[in-house]
Amino acid sequence: MSSSALAASEFSNPNLEPLFTGEQIQARIAEMGSEIARDYRESNPLLLGVLKGAFIFLSDLVRAIDLKVGVEFMAISSYGAEMRTSGEVKIVKDLDVPIEGRDILVVEDIVDTGLTLSYLLANLRSRGARSVKLAALLDKWERREREVHIDYLGFKIPDAFVVGYGLDYAERYRNLPYIAVLKDPNA
Ligand code: 5GP
Repeated sequence: MSSSALAASEFSNPNLEPLFTGEQIQARIAEMGSEIARDYRESNPLLLGVLKGAFIFLSDLVRAIDLKVGVEFMAISSYGAEMRTSGEVKIVKDLDVPIEGRDILVVEDIVDTGLTLSYLLANLRSRGARSVKLAALLDKWERREREVHIDYLGFKIPDAFVVGYGLDYAERYRNLPYIAVLKDPNA
């Protein structure tokens, strides 16, 4: 083995301040899954994950929902900073299936200003879905600019930049098995 195999641990990086452990996240997701299964027991909902950040949350959530469900993904990217205030986002990967008459549960990692979700939820409603609800793991409520109703919420968090459990900083840290505040993005 080369000496590079002895590189410092990514998961115990000193630039990370743990916020929620993997166990806390799993316990909360189990509760959310039971609630969702109860609410949708008469239906066959389509879980719609928003890439990339929600991929880990969705994969755990879907296994906590004891019902017949479908899974789809969309990828969206916000325009540059000046376009952001308009709330417009660009759909990079759209749905592959029609959603008319379906019960859609959007699965998102974090709601921050709310601009992305308010655009996406309105867009989905305009396509004739029977219902559109939102499950979000994290709510950075202090920074909200657009009202977004979160039907199923994991945790409220303070105004800090968080990574892990699917959430990245410049594509790094998505693989952390817990959620942490990134202390210094430049470190
Ligand atoms: P919003 O449109 O609500 O301001 O932003 C939502 C998106 O911004 C999220 O889906 C996520 O990609 C990104 N985001 C907002 N806050 C954070 C954060 O604390 N950490 C990370 N990694 N991404 C964030």
